[in-house]
Parts: sequence; C-alpha cells; structure tokens
Amino acid sequence: MKTSLSIFAFIILFFGCRKVTTNLSEELNTDVKQNEFAIIIHGGAGTILKKNMSDELEAEYKEKLEEAIKVGYIILKKGGTSQEAVLKTIQVMEESPLFNAGKGAVFTHEETNELDASFMDGKTLNAGAVAGVKNVKSPIELAIKIMTDSDHVMLSGAGASEFAKEKGLEIVDPSYFYTEKRFNSLQKIKDNEKTALDHDDKKAAFYDADIKNSKFGTVGCVALDKNGNIAAGTSTGGMTNKRWGRIGDAPIIGSGTYANNKTCGVSSTGWGEYFIRSQVAYDISAQMEYQQKTLKEATKDVIQHKLTKLGGTGGVVALDKNGNMSFEFNTTGMYRASMNDKGDLIVKIYKE
Ligand code: ASP
Repeated sequence: MKTSLSIFAFIILFFGCRKVTTNLSEELNTDVKQNEFAIIIHGGAGTILKKNMSDELEAEYKEKLEEAIKVGYIILKKGGTSQEAVLKTIQVMEESPLFNAGKGAVFTHEETNELDASFMDGKTLNAGAVAGVKNVKSPIELAIKIMTDSDHVMLSGAGASEFAKEKGLEIVDPSYFYTEKRFNSLQKIKDNEKTALDHDDKKAAFYDADIKNSKFGTVGCVALDKNGNIAAGTSTGGMTNKRWGRIGDAPIIGSGTYANNKTCGVSSTGWGEYFIRSQVAYDISAQMEYQQKTLKEATKDVIQHKLTKLGGTGGVVALDKNGNMSFEFNTTGMYRASMNDKGDLIVKIYKE
C-alpha cells in the first residue's frame, strides 16, 4: 500500500513538474513581435543620486536624452536604417558637454582627451571600432567608417586619425573636447591619489573617486529598423585619470557593443575593465542564442549576477529582434531613454 502510494505521488509530482516546465519554456521562447521598430539609449551609469543633482541639471539631461532619441526615432519611423539612427542619435550626445563622449569627454592623467567608440551591424556581423583618438569630432562616425571603408575592425591613435582625415571626417583641435567640469574632476582624483599611501590604496583612490563622483557618462544606442536589422554603437572618453594608453570596453566588440539580428543588440557603460573580462555584450546575446533566454533574463543574469559577482559596476541598454527592450544596471542610476513604434517615450535617470 505504502509503495503504491509513493508511486502515485511520484507520478503526480513528475507530470505536475513537467507541466510547469513546459509552460515556462513556452514563455521563454515567445517569438511575438512587440515592436516593428524601436530605439534605446544610455548616457552612462554610475553613482547618480537625486540628492546630488539640481533640478536644472536633471532637466538638462532629460531634455538632451529626449532630443537624441527622437532623432533616431524619426529616422526609423521614416523607414531609415538602424545604422543611420544609431549614428545620428549618438552624435547628438557626442556634441553635448553633458556626457563623457565627444565634447565633454573625461581627461586622462596627462590632461588630454582620448576617445573610444565602436559600432556593430547585426545583419552582417560587421563591425568597426576606434581607440584613443584625440582630434576626431565624432568617434562613432569614425567607427562606422572603419567598418564600411577599411579592411579592419579596429584602428587606434594617430593611425586612426590619419584614416579619418583621408576619409574626410571632421578633425578638430584637441581643445574642442575641453570642459571645465571634467578638468576639475581630474584634479580632484589626482589630489585623492596624492594622499593615498601605497600602491593598492592608489588603485582604490583612482576608482573610488571616479565612481563616487560619477565620472562615467559614456553614451550608447541600439536600434531595430523596419527591415528587422539591429545596430548598436557606443562612444566614450573612457575613465577619468586613465593613463598609459588605457583602452576600456567601449571599443571592444563583444564587451561594450554587440549586435546580431538573430538575438539582440547591446551597448554597455560602466567600469570597463570588468566589462572586458565578462564579455558583457556578447554574453547577453550568447545566452539568448544558446540557452533560449529572453532579453530580460539574459541582461539580468549578466549584470546582476555575473558582473556584480566579479565586482564590476555599470549597466547596459539592449533590444532584441522582436523589439523588446531592457535597461539593466547595478549602479544607483543610469541616464537612459527608449521609444517604441507607437512613439511611447521613457526617459529616466535613477533606479526607479
Ligand atoms: N565603460 C567606459 C570605460 O571603461 C566608461 C563608461 O562607461 O563610462 O571606458
């Protein structure tokens, strides 16, 4: 009697569980188009707290995010490509001193500005990237040019500037990138460094000050166009006080930027070293491709579990082939916005 009761209980449990699992996997594999086209952007993540922000500055950020995303939205609505939408949207943010990209880029230890950017096309898996340029007005434009007009994926420094010149891109005097706010941030970090005693403390001062004073501010954009093509791009000045030609995740395909029409597009922002080690952008796409995770599940796992466990801080904006969108970050804030094909606009800064 006891044995047959156990067998009965086992059958109930087994089939009960199977049902739940089946329902769950059906849910995970939903392949319903949510948006014919969509666009999502970030303007950097970090310790962004309401108490440290004036109402005026908050309004300025929100206005600029809205202006930028609407540029891309209109391109997509009219049937333009996701590549064009990403380029033009990022250029609005590169030209604004509010963000750590183009004008407004953070300063290196040597008090220069060295810019990184990358772009990826989800249809062809073609990509372009640039690291450490000092005089190219729009690094995102250069990244795209490297993709379309060279045999290479990544160019750096003087050679990248030479290529930009040859291709007729706008070259500016390095002083174009100067902003007083970013220059003062560098001085504050250098002062912190002076007071730190040993090497380890110095390292801590470099990053702690950076994070506490919110020196992030990279910009990024992912778009899905009416032809189902996903494109992603990221542009940055890197991290304040960087030296020795340091290159972050932003120009690394698979870390700062990734796009694949089969899965999703991703743009990252945060402490670049951790994003490189975690291959954040590609990992999100790979989890969707090989584990059939939804965009939300994949971004959550990579940012809230894997990156956080490693000690990394920051976030991503991501968009999948069906127009689902995800903001995921483990910092107190991330400048961010999204628009779907109905024109619904979300602009946010803090966690909630
Ligand atoms: N990820 C960038 C870097 O490490 C910084 C940022 O996103 O603000 O260069």
